[in-house]
Amino acid sequence: MLVSPAMNESISVQPGPILLDPGYPLPGSIRRPDYRPGEREALIREIRALLEARDAVLVAHYYTDEDLQMIADETGGTVADSLEMARFGNRHKATTLVVAGVRFMGETAKILNPEKRVLMPTLEAECSLDLGCPPAEFIPFCDANPDRTVVVYANTCAEVKARADWVVTSSIAVDVVNHLQARGERILWAPDRYLGNYIQRVSGADMLLWQASCIVHERFKAEALQNLAKHHPDAAILVHPESPEAVIELADVVGSTTRLIKAVRELDNMKFIVATDNGIFYKMKQAAPDKTFMEAPSAGEGATCESCAHCPWMAMNHLRNLAEVLRNGTNEIHVPVDIGRKALKATQRMVEFAAASK
Ligand code: SF4
Repeated sequence: MLVSPAMNESISVQPGPILLDPGYPLPGSIRRPDYRPGEREALIREIRALLEARDAVLVAHYYTDEDLQMIADETGGTVADSLEMARFGNRHKATTLVVAGVRFMGETAKILNPEKRVLMPTLEAECSLDLGCPPAEFIPFCDANPDRTVVVYANTCAEVKARADWVVTSSIAVDVVNHLQARGERILWAPDRYLGNYIQRVSGADMLLWQASCIVHERFKAEALQNLAKHHPDAAILVHPESPEAVIELADVVGSTTRLIKAVRELDNMKFIVATDNGIFYKMKQAAPDKTFMEAPSAGEGATCESCAHCPWMAMNHLRNLAEVLRNGTNEIHVPVDIGRKALKATQRMVEFAAASK
């Protein structure tokens, strides 16, 4: 059931919410590969040399392995959220972009840079938000609500972006919705229901919400977080808005990954409890080396946990498959030209809106 909180309207459209049993396989282990003695160092050297030889630049997400973040930093690439990843790839002169992240990030890079070659360490890294918003169901839903402006999160496939009026990331989603609301527009939002709910609460906009969710953020637990905070009353709580409402309510700062990293630099607190993927700790420690970071509690902690505070698809990016794509030029992203052209319109709006808001 899809629900518009602003209108208290219920519409029977699939899919239902994606909860803890998502109905598709997760990739399994989120451990890094067991590198043989000396292999890690050799791969890092090889990747550095290949990036230069192939006129390639590494664009890595904050949730990827810290070796990849370190190489991106040291070779003139970037480590960023999905908005900045898109913008960086767009303005960098390299002819090949190597995107370490999940598939929609590679597609977004290709949409914005159709003339460039876009490679990814793996093409199997999915995202539950993207999987939870299949075009075959989403497009008819948009068609059934023609009076609404379609705003989609960047975590969607190219075909969904092609049907959208706007693409946004969490760093500018509230600003874009405020802007549309001021123009009197009613919103159809997809795919993340928690982020959609958060934007609706903050903006008061009339929003009809698709009901997908992030398997990492939806597992953070408010009660356990409260208990942890009681033991660390001096810690600030940082929460990504893909988390459930009860978790967001406990936050000192709610925001995109970039906003949360900024918060650890700016706040006086020496301790932070962080409700987002723990890959972000690499950049948080760089931003504030003397401070302490703790994961917010999530469900099912322990050996069998597949997505507690770390995205199992992001974890599929590692040194071995990064070196492999640079050696052989495999795992190239292709977006059909007509889809890419349509998706570019909505994606370009995001880039231009972000540039104008700076
Ligand atoms: S952390 Fe969540 S939103 Fe990000 S890629 Fe993984 S499943 Fe998707």
